[in-house]
Amino acid sequence: MKSFSIAPERLKQLNDRPLREDGTCLVYWMQESMRAYENPALEYAVRWANDLGKPCVVAFTLIDDFPEANLRHYRFLLEGLKEVADRLAERDIPLCMLHGPRSERITRFAKDQDACAVVTDRAYLRHERKWRSEAADQLEVPLVQVESNVVVPVETASNKREYAARTIRKKIMQRVDDFSGETTETTPGQDAKALELESDLDFGSVDELLDQLKIDRSVPVSPDFTGGTAEARRRLTAFLRSDLEGYGDGRLDPADDATSHLSPYLHFGHISPCEILRKVRNSSAPQSDREAYVEELVVRRELAHNFVYYTPDDYDSLNALPDWAKETMEKHADDPRPNHFTREQLEKGETDDEAWNASMKEMRERGFLPNYLRMYWGKQIIRWTNTYDYAHKTTLYLNNKYFMDGRDANSFTNVLWLFGLHDRAWTEREVFGKLRMLSKGGLERKFDVEAYLKRVSELDE
Ligand SMILES: Cc1cc2nc3c(=O)[nH]c(=O)nc-3n(C[C@H](O)[C@H](O)[C@H](O)COP(=O)(O)OP(=O)(O)OC[C@H]3O[C@@H](n4cnc5c(N)ncnc54)[C@H](O)[C@@H]3O)c2cc1C
Repeated sequence: MKSFSIAPERLKQLNDRPLREDGTCLVYWMQESMRAYENPALEYAVRWANDLGKPCVVAFTLIDDFPEANLRHYRFLLEGLKEVADRLAERDIPLCMLHGPRSERITRFAKDQDACAVVTDRAYLRHERKWRSEAADQLEVPLVQVESNVVVPVETASNKREYAARTIRKKIMQRVDDFSGETTETTPGQDAKALELESDLDFGSVDELLDQLKIDRSVPVSPDFTGGTAEARRRLTAFLRSDLEGYGDGRLDPADDATSHLSPYLHFGHISPCEILRKVRNSSAPQSDREAYVEELVVRRELAHNFVYYTPDDYDSLNALPDWAKETMEKHADDPRPNHFTREQLEKGETDDEAWNASMKEMRERGFLPNYLRMYWGKQIIRWTNTYDYAHKTTLYLNNKYFMDGRDANSFTNVLWLFGLHDRAWTEREVFGKLRMLSKGGLERKFDVEAYLKRVSELDE
C-alpha cells in the first residue's frame, strides 16, 4: 500500500480485495472527519486518485436514526457539510449525499460508479466500527481507512488500554511531533465531469436537506453553536487572542466560561486536532498555559480514544471500571441516598439544588457546560438515584441527548470517570464510597453561584 506522504501509521487496509484498475474513480467515504481542510483521509484519496489517473469523488452517507442524535446534532453536522460541499466544489471534487444504511449504501454507490477503491476516515464507537467492517466485507474493491481525528494514532500511542493520564502522557507526548505536521492540499489531476453521479438528497440549503430527513426533533438547535470549519477557526483565533493566556488556572472556573469551546467541532471532525495543536504551540501565551491546553487536547482527549478503542464491548458500562471502584460501589450500594429524583425530574431540572437545575437548563438550552460544572452535574446524579447503574445510564442519556459534543469517545469516558475510571480512590464517604465526591460547598467556593444563576435565568427555553 502506497502512503502518498501520509504517515503510514494512519493507514489501514480493512479488506484484501484487489484494486479495480479499470474503474472510473476513487471514492472517499467521508463519515467522521467532516472537513475539506487538513483532512488526511481526503488528501490521501486525492493523491491515490491522481496516481491512478482517475477523479476523486466524496460520498457522505446520512441516516435518519443515527444512535442518540437529534435535530441539534443533525443541524450542526449539516452546517459543516454544507461548507465541505462548497469548498470541495472550488476544488472540482464532487460531494454525493447518500441516504440509507451506511455500509450497504456506500457499497452500492461504489459498485454503481465502478470505483477503483474506497478510502474512509476512522471512528471508534461500536456502531461506527461495525459499519466500516461491514463495508469492508461487502465491497469488491479495497477499503483503506485513514486516521484523521487524533494527533497520535491510537495503536501508535499505546498497544493496550491505559490506566490513567499519567500512564499514557509520556507515550503520547514523545510521538506528538511525528504526527502534528500540516496535511497539505493536493490539486486533483482529473475532473469528475464525465461521471454520472447522483445524490439521494438535495443539498440546496441546510434547511432543505433537514426537511428531507425523518429525524428526532425533540431537542432544539443550540443558539450558541454553528457548525463548520470557518466557525471552528474563528473560535480558535478568538481563544488564542484572549483566553489561552490564563487557561492553566482559569479553565476550571465555570463562571468565566473561558475555554476554547472546540469540543463540538472536534467531535464532528470540523477541525483537525493537529491544526489546533500547532496554533496553540506557536502562540505567544505563557508556556504553562499552552502546556495545560495540550494536556486536555492531546493527553485527555486521546486517553478517551484509547479507552473506547481497547474496551469495545464495555465502554458504556460500569463493567469497564477498575476493581477498586466496583468494590467500593458494591459496599455502598445500600447506603441511604439523601434525596431521590426520577430521570424525568432530573431532565426537567426539578431538584432541590438551584445550581444543578441551572446547569441542566443550560444543557437543554445551550448544549454545553464548562468542565467543572459537568463534573458537579454528574456527581450529584450518583447522590440522587437508587443504583449506580441507573445513575450511569441516566447521566449518559442526558449527556448524549443534550451536549453538542455528546456521543463522543470523550462522552463515554468522562461519564465513567464520575464512577472512578482513570481516577484514584479517595477518602471513603456515604453513597460515594471511595469515588471522588464534589459537594455543593465545593462548588460555592469555586465560583460565584449567584452570577451563574442570573446568567442561566436569562437563557430562553
Ligand atoms: C461528566 C462529564 C461529561 C463530559 N462529556 C463530554 C462529552 O460528551 N464530550 C466531550 O467532548 N467532552 C466531554 N467532557 C469533557 C470536557 O468537559 C469537555 O471536553 C470540555 O468541557 C469541552 O470544552 P472546551 O472545548 O471548551 O474545552 P477546552 O478546555 O478548551 O479543551 C480543549 C479540548 O480538549 C479536550 N478536553 C478538555 N477537557 C477534557 C477532558 N476532561 N477529557 C477529555 N478531553 C478533554 C476537548 O476535546 C476540548 O475541546 C465531559 C466531562 C465530564 C466531567
